[in-house]
Amino acid sequence: MEPASDPNLSVPLRGAERTLQLLLFPNPVVQKKMEEAKEIVPPLWREVSEKEWSDWRWQLRHRITTFEQLKEIIDLTSEEIEGIKHSKGRLALAVTPYFASLMDPINSNCPIRRQAIPRMEEFHLSKNDMVDPCGEDKDSPVPGLVHRYPDRVLLLVTDQCAVYCRYCTRRRLVGSHERAITQGNFEEVLKYLRSHRKVRDVLLSGGDPLLLENERLEEILSRLRAIPHIELLRIGTRVPVTLPQRITGGLVRMLKKYHPLMISIHFSHPKEITDQVRRACNELADGGIPLGSQTVLLKGINDKPYIMKKLVQELLKIRVRPYYIYQCDLAMGTEHFRTSVATGIQIMEKLRGHTTGYAVPTYVVDAPGGGGKIPVEPVYVVSRGKGKIVLRNYEGKIFEYPEPNIIEFKKMRANGEEKVVQKKVMA
Ligand code: SF4
Repeated sequence: MEPASDPNLSVPLRGAERTLQLLLFPNPVVQKKMEEAKEIVPPLWREVSEKEWSDWRWQLRHRITTFEQLKEIIDLTSEEIEGIKHSKGRLALAVTPYFASLMDPINSNCPIRRQAIPRMEEFHLSKNDMVDPCGEDKDSPVPGLVHRYPDRVLLLVTDQCAVYCRYCTRRRLVGSHERAITQGNFEEVLKYLRSHRKVRDVLLSGGDPLLLENERLEEILSRLRAIPHIELLRIGTRVPVTLPQRITGGLVRMLKKYHPLMISIHFSHPKEITDQVRRACNELADGGIPLGSQTVLLKGINDKPYIMKKLVQELLKIRVRPYYIYQCDLAMGTEHFRTSVATGIQIMEKLRGHTTGYAVPTYVVDAPGGGGKIPVEPVYVVSRGKGKIVLRNYEGKIFEYPEPNIIEFKKMRANGEEKVVQKKVMA
């Protein structure tokens, strides 16, 4: 068993974390209220030691799952109270104490609250909602495995997450049993992969693969790595954001053995980038693991260009390369989180050219029903004409690019005029 997380790690400065967020997004009214509120130590954790707080297993064991616990730390609105009551038996409420400590206790529009606390809006089902919005189940040859693209597969290794996001695409699966893939099921997956030699890339997802104990995760990684045609292992996770205590030296030392291994981290808002998260990402990056981010575009949370720009710039500072912005899928009860696609395009318009190219992710729509990710971009090609293309830059200025005229060149060559042209060029 891996030892508990490094006891030297400091406890997140709960009041100070909140103050930092206010520095990022100043709002004098909220700030005043926050100044008053930060003196109130949530009674729920008053007795918690630094060692316990820094231990990911303690965090996981003490997740907030009830209305009674949550009301100890924040002023719940009637929308939230009703949402929590109705969420029983569906995608349940579960929030780590760490993630809950980032919640604004007063403002119900806090992006951390909006993502983690059910609201009544979730129980409105639109005619567009789908149980399996990305059509994963129909592309599943073996339970837990999704094989859609020719050379890569998605392997769902657990249905457990540290925090359940209210907009989760896999809400049909996650949180239902909080169980890892069974050994028998995993053996079936291995058998399938060994016989499909075109598969060169396996993405571990769930639920959250980093909630598995190191030993179980290592068994999965090592047995996949032993398949000769599997070149790349990837992990999709939100744990560095919702449970950064899980990123320990022991975990990183284990992961390092299975390079090339990449990690995609689900970030939603700059408020999520705390000192704890910086430390977690640094440890992973120091382990030589390339880090990318995946962000779901969410109405009222990150659908403003200035928020997304702040997020991608902060991500680069912690060595996470912004990778995807996803249009919110058509999962059941998530219509209130969805923006128009035009909103996403407008955000991309404000990123490309306006910040470092490395900070600009690809905006994609995962085709409803299972067509895969389709990139959506602002239109930069104004027109295509004979021998030229007309382009627009990020400032709206128009430029012409002369294209090589291959047809003309071939005609000249056929007529023996090629040398004449070359001489002209040389002159
Ligand atoms: S971490 Fe991912 S899988 Fe888990 S609830 Fe959030 S979106 Fe769903």
